[in-house]
Amino acid sequence: REERCAKIEEAIKALDFKGNYIKHERYGNGHINDTFLIQFNQDDRNVKYILQRMNHEIFKDPDQLMKNICGITEFLKKKITKSHGDVNRETMNVIDTKKGEPFYKDSIGSYWRAYQFIEDAISYDQVDKPEDFYQSAVAFGRFQHLLSDYKAESLYETIPNFHNTPTRYQTFKEAVKKDICGRAKNVTPEIEFICNREDDMKICMDLLNKEQLPLRVTHNDTKLNNIMIDNKTGKGICVIDLDTVMPGLSIFDFGDSIRFGANTAAEDETDLSKVSLNLQLFELYAKGYLEGCNGSLTKKETEMLPMGAKTMALECGMRFLTDYLLGDTYFRIHRENHNLDRCRTQLKLVEDMEYKWDEMNSVIKKYM
Ligand code: ATP
Ligand code: MG
Ligand code: MG
Repeated sequence: REERCAKIEEAIKALDFKGNYIKHERYGNGHINDTFLIQFNQDDRNVKYILQRMNHEIFKDPDQLMKNICGITEFLKKKITKSHGDVNRETMNVIDTKKGEPFYKDSIGSYWRAYQFIEDAISYDQVDKPEDFYQSAVAFGRFQHLLSDYKAESLYETIPNFHNTPTRYQTFKEAVKKDICGRAKNVTPEIEFICNREDDMKICMDLLNKEQLPLRVTHNDTKLNNIMIDNKTGKGICVIDLDTVMPGLSIFDFGDSIRFGANTAAEDETDLSKVSLNLQLFELYAKGYLEGCNGSLTKKETEMLPMGAKTMALECGMRFLTDYLLGDTYFRIHRENHNLDRCRTQLKLVEDMEYKWDEMNSVIKKYM
């Protein structure tokens, strides 16, 4: 990792930063990219930038990825300017290279890109206050709203079939059939649980294919720490971490936030009695998301929000189980059966959502 960042100074020279270079240091808690804070001095002012070595192993085509990011950030800038918002704080701003490219490939093949630093704001790693979770909902909703008239089909699918749940199901079935680690016998109930819900898995994608749900610009990593929260006002001001922006379903962005943020336990909790859907947090997020969307979701999308949440939990549980069956090659494990534990929390969450199904739907009706 350090080796791949060896040419950082070359990258700093290539990018079009203003002023005199002061220093750089590693920054933040991101898991995907190598993130650095870069400081410059311009007219006796300290100017900060975020510089990232992009994760080329996961994102194979940096050119397409940056085209996606530049496309939507330019679009957002125009809208924010029109509505007299603060372009420097309410959207990411890509810093080009001195040659006018949106990223730089260094002499050892690492890819670098930079953004203006968003001042006086923080991204929180955990949901400590329900208010922050609500603020993230408003911000992700506003992101959806502002991009609702962006041509989603013009975006590159940087990770093909990312939330194509039926395709994920096929991959799962093959893993069960091949059973290369001989682990299938340990997880008969979990396999059965998933197979019993084969039809559920198709519902959202079928609606997309029948054009009953629109193709949207989606973020695909709608965690709390991908929102900058203003230090003074406590409001969610900007959606960051745009690597996975792709065409997709709004209800999956919503659903992934719920799966991650409205679970009463940790993602790898082994005491399943602690795992459940927190209906208060579900309601808070739904309220914030719909406020942020400000009428840009269709009636069908709004109605399908609970199904988006259930599908994301099911898909995620299925992916953990697939990885367990394949020998833990995708998700990094920190203990034996870690992926199985993770799978079980997601399936428990699905079960609890099914139990609370009527209540989830009533919550959504309240805000329609
Ligand atoms: P993840 O594990 O969420 O995928 P990542 O490796 O893709 O993370 P980012 O989320 O892009 O990395 O950035 C890591 C952290 O750096 C963020 O959580 C945030 O604290 C900070 N950060 C990123 N961009 C900016 C910015 N423009 N201004 C200020 N801070 C930023
Ligand atoms: Mg992030
Ligand atoms: Mg990321």
